[in-house]
Amino acid sequence: MARAAKATINLAALKQNYLLAKELAGGKQAAAIIKANAYGHGAVQVARYLSDVADAFGVACIEEAMELKDAGIEQPVALLEGFFTADELELVNEHKLITAVHSDWQVEAIASTTFDQPVTVWVKFDSGMHRLGFDADGFRQALQTLKELPQVGQLVAMTHYACADEVECEYTQQQLNKFLAVCADYDLPVCTANSAAILHWPETHGKNTCTDWVRPGIMLYGASPMDQNTENSQRLQTVMTLSSALIAVRELEPGEPIGYGRRFVTEQPTRVGVVAMGYADGYPRHAKDGTPVAVNDKMTRIIGKVSMDMMTVDLTDLPDAQIGDPVELWGEQVDVNDVASCADTIAYTLYTGITRRVPLVYKS
Ligand SMILES: *Cc1c(COP(=O)(O)O)cnc(C)c1O
Repeated sequence: MARAAKATINLAALKQNYLLAKELAGGKQAAAIIKANAYGHGAVQVARYLSDVADAFGVACIEEAMELKDAGIEQPVALLEGFFTADELELVNEHKLITAVHSDWQVEAIASTTFDQPVTVWVKFDSGMHRLGFDADGFRQALQTLKELPQVGQLVAMTHYACADEVECEYTQQQLNKFLAVCADYDLPVCTANSAAILHWPETHGKNTCTDWVRPGIMLYGASPMDQNTENSQRLQTVMTLSSALIAVRELEPGEPIGYGRRFVTEQPTRVGVVAMGYADGYPRHAKDGTPVAVNDKMTRIIGKVSMDMMTVDLTDLPDAQIGDPVELWGEQVDVNDVASCADTIAYTLYTGITRRVPLVYKS
């Protein structure tokens, strides 16, 4: 019998989440964001499964784009941070990739490259996140130059929000206002909404279903990015179930420590289950005592520090649990966001942190 640790990917739920993104965005084009190996879900598998519905895919770099193209994915693929070096433009040309442009040197690189057909450029405006993008003057200048270039086909105005996950925060509207103000002089398609904006800020979705874009990422995988539940966030369907099994069960007297550093000490007679899942699988080592897990479909908690290949859970109220029984670390029963908050992190890092020791098993 093999080690039971695995991540089961529900592809039907993934597709429903994509279709939900499109529905919430009023039918705008949606670039399914599948950077970082589709947030740990397997980029090629995810792209293949979405290929009959997705308008495009978004990735972080040329290597990720090439993985999709090499696998025969035909949809347009967008480089969300653009190209990192000018020599990538050869592949941008060959595979008709969409490229973001956020810096002058990228405009110049495009100007000195020959393309077989005009390249689609998403020009990034920094509306207030202050990570990537042109300021207002730089944006106008870049647009001016790009419009004149025979190498450039469609131009799309792009920006990104810093706080769209904060339901009560006004900054998203301020960023949008700034973006719309600088775009007012041009008649450009827009591409601004990440998952949180799709879920909560309809003004960011654009107006034109044929040309505007949204960029759903985390919501495709069923985890809500919002800081509180909303009607829309509750419509997301769980995609990944991280599971394993009990490999040992023991009974401890009161006053006995469990695991490294003796972080947890029993206060009563305690039944302890050892689970084949640890931080080398991507489970967060910082998960505190009390982090939820489900054993045999019943909720319980972690007790003791997570180690590399194993962790320990409380079976005191689960007297029937025995070696071989299934354990869910996150999925339908254990909300990935609850695990994330018990480990002081976010679902994004949990998903992208799954390591190659964990087989991904797809079901549709
Ligand atoms: C990753 C990314 C997204 C998707 O963000 P989510 O919060 O996962 O929806 C959208 N746009 C850009 C530019 C990104 O880098």
